[in-house]
Amino acid sequence: MPLVNAKEMLTKAKAGHYAVGQFNINNLEWTKAILLTAQEMNSPVILGVSEGAGKYMCGYNTVVGMVEGMLETLNITVPVALHLDHGSYEGAKACIEAGFSSIMFDGSHYPIDENIAKTKELVAICEEKGLSIEAEVGSIGGEEDGVVGAGECADPDECKMIADLGVTMLAAGIGNIHGKYPENWAGLSFETLAAVQEKTGTMPLVLHGGTGIPADMIKKAISLGVSKINVNTECQLAFQEATRKYIEEGKDLQGKGFDPRKLLAPGVEAIKETVREKIELFGSANKA
Ligand code: 13P
Repeated sequence: MPLVNAKEMLTKAKAGHYAVGQFNINNLEWTKAILLTAQEMNSPVILGVSEGAGKYMCGYNTVVGMVEGMLETLNITVPVALHLDHGSYEGAKACIEAGFSSIMFDGSHYPIDENIAKTKELVAICEEKGLSIEAEVGSIGGEEDGVVGAGECADPDECKMIADLGVTMLAAGIGNIHGKYPENWAGLSFETLAAVQEKTGTMPLVLHGGTGIPADMIKKAISLGVSKINVNTECQLAFQEATRKYIEEGKDLQGKGFDPRKLLAPGVEAIKETVREKIELFGSANKA
């Protein structure tokens, strides 16, 4: 199946009280692992690409070519959206040009008027081209691609203003953080989430920083209107741990253990296992 935008999968998720996972990709192994797992679990899936990862993978055209090639060759029939993660205004335009099916414009660091103006412009372009668009209000904590957010809670009225522009999905800061959560993390602000949900109605809400959020909090967030959950670091940690084990056990020194197809295989299996667990937890298995 060719790439689809994220509208239908997220509308269904919101109505059905489950969430679709956005798993960020870094290279061919990552992409293949995520696509095969989504297919195996009969789940819709969103492939997230940060601007940094896009650059690393030799640009957005390369990413589109790789993903489209895999959809065909691996015979992927579940809905797959290719989504720019935390895009700048210029990055969003470049991904639209390159053939992404979905973009996120992160204007959360602009004053709200500027966030609204830029989001509005991109909504019009996405509507014309049939893409889905995610906007953000209230920055997500932690560090991503050198941008450090303090993890503020979004203003529900500002969320309503952005939702009313016709975006497909809305990321609202609710105390969530990218990367590992610190020991003294206060947890998600369900009060903020409930207030945002009340103001924005049927709008699918997005939870960033999915790594390390306890299962009960994930379930509660879904019950309060979260329909898309982003996971990145957890796949990286799973890959790193499995690769470290392979090398520490000296397997790279045995026979053809140095062959990248062997060397990277445990990491790929670890990513698959992580994606499987998340799809189960988010409730999107058999919802393709
Ligand atoms: P984590 O790296 O914390 O899983 O966050 C991913 C994310 O929110 C991408 O936008």
